[in-house]
Amino acid sequence: MNRSEQLASLATDTVWDIIVIGGGATGLGTALDAATRGYKTLLLEGHDFAKGTSSRSTKLVHGGVRYLEQGNIKLVREALRERGYLLKNAPHLTSVQTFIVPVFSWWEKMFYGLGLKFYDLLSGKLSLGDTQILSKKETTSHLPTINADKLAGGILYYDGQFDDSHLAIEIAATAIKSGATVINYCKVTGFIKTNDKITGVECIDLLSEKKYTLTTKVVVNATGVFTNAIVQMDDHLQHDLVSPSQGIHLVIDAKFFPGTDAMMIPKTDDGRVLFAVPWHDKVVLGTTDTPIEEISYEPKPLEEEIEFIIKHINRYCTTLIKRADINSVYVGLRPLVKQKSKGSTALISREHHLSVSSSGLITIMGGKWTTYRKMAADAVDNAAFIGKFNKEKCKTAHTPIGDEQEKENRMNEIIKNDISLKELVHPNYTFTKAVLVYAVKYEMAICIEDILARRMRLLFLDAKLAIALAPMVASIIAPYLQKDKNWEALEVKSFTELAGQYILS
Ligand SMILES: Cc1cc2nc3c(=O)[nH]c(=O)nc-3n(C[C@H](O)[C@H](O)[C@H](O)COP(=O)(O)OP(=O)(O)OC[C@H]3O[C@@H](n4cnc5c(N)ncnc54)[C@H](O)[C@@H]3O)c2cc1C
Repeated sequence: MNRSEQLASLATDTVWDIIVIGGGATGLGTALDAATRGYKTLLLEGHDFAKGTSSRSTKLVHGGVRYLEQGNIKLVREALRERGYLLKNAPHLTSVQTFIVPVFSWWEKMFYGLGLKFYDLLSGKLSLGDTQILSKKETTSHLPTINADKLAGGILYYDGQFDDSHLAIEIAATAIKSGATVINYCKVTGFIKTNDKITGVECIDLLSEKKYTLTTKVVVNATGVFTNAIVQMDDHLQHDLVSPSQGIHLVIDAKFFPGTDAMMIPKTDDGRVLFAVPWHDKVVLGTTDTPIEEISYEPKPLEEEIEFIIKHINRYCTTLIKRADINSVYVGLRPLVKQKSKGSTALISREHHLSVSSSGLITIMGGKWTTYRKMAADAVDNAAFIGKFNKEKCKTAHTPIGDEQEKENRMNEIIKNDISLKELVHPNYTFTKAVLVYAVKYEMAICIEDILARRMRLLFLDAKLAIALAPMVASIIAPYLQKDKNWEALEVKSFTELAGQYILS
């Protein structure tokens, strides 16, 4: 994955079959799907891959127990099937995770027990394991810090877990290997139309500020919460298609929530579910669902959201957490498809939707990370129809993502060239300094943030440590990016400012 090589294809007079706007889960999935069907595919991402919502999820590959409670069996069944495909296609980036639902009465035990057995049944052959009903003693042995007062027992069920931005980057790499051109930091700024139909896009490489005009048969808009801006770029009279809803996560040390099991609280005060999920060496607590007006790349947590999560977790656990115990707070915006007459965003469907404008712009929106592959397949089916391409079947249900052996070989090569890169970045983490060089050479990282936020995840796991390591990261990557000491200082300053927002005061 070499950015200059990818960028070189923009200077040719290629007529693309599909240009995908947006390098989050949906857009990258679309590029991979289109390329594996043999279509000439280009993906343009205006920031880094997964900078938007796709690096800020709760890290669950799941059917969505909550949607079952809402009676949306079709969505749950589809997501469980996708969960199965993802765990098979990217085993190194996903894992099976046990979840415990603590229950406080016989009635709750029956209700959640039956519900979660049905959840497992819906996954059919792709089941990850049988749902089990646990005694009080079994529940406390799975969740050592659970408050046992009034506890009646628990339900154990299986779901999936993943590293969202790592997966995004490996989908990008797989799309490139399958023939797609995929570029980050290249923003779409306009459409070219012929007889009112879209026939091209204008974009700018944000690193060189060079502008390009590209020709294409079809454009797929996969820009998540930024969807409205793109549909209005196509037609300024178009009404908003998505509305953003914010969800925050607090990341704490595993000592507050020891063990390997996750916990799912099925009903918070506002009727949502809340998770405590082991992730890397930490635990992610979340999330919230707050309708918001402003769309931003770095949304801010609201005080009431922070208090809400701390209050609920402390209600269930004996090791109480305080604000000072939070290592990082990260916030994501859900691109919810606008629906009339739904009061709360928690009730808006997580199904995905597809729209086609009169100029031929295909917009794919909504959905979940877990269902990105199906969303992509639907988008490409439509693109093939609109672009009148040869009909090819979707192949991604059985397309492996990433190449572990190739990665290992490249890492060995990096270390062979500079043995000092074998050192660990920090004694508490298993990453070697070679990972930093790998990110620049093979994963299109161009700055400290790309590495510490989305390739190593340290910003999300421990924001203070990320700030402390920033100067070292800058000094290692600078020569590979042909940058000087001045750049290093500016980079450290801007990363420190950004990371400050992940620390609670
Ligand atoms: C709090 C929270 C928790 C979640 N937890 C889970 C979970 O546990 N499991 C799960 O399955 N799902 C989860 N989801 C849902 C999932 O994260 C999203 O559905 C998914 O990430 C959306 O991906 P996307 O590609 O549509 O959008 P994004 O990831 O936002 O990608 C859109 C991209 O478009 C780019 N873009 C915008 N404008 C332009 C332009 N002009 N030119 C080029 N590029 C442009 C942006 O830079 C951005 O990278 C969660 C969501 C939230 C908010």
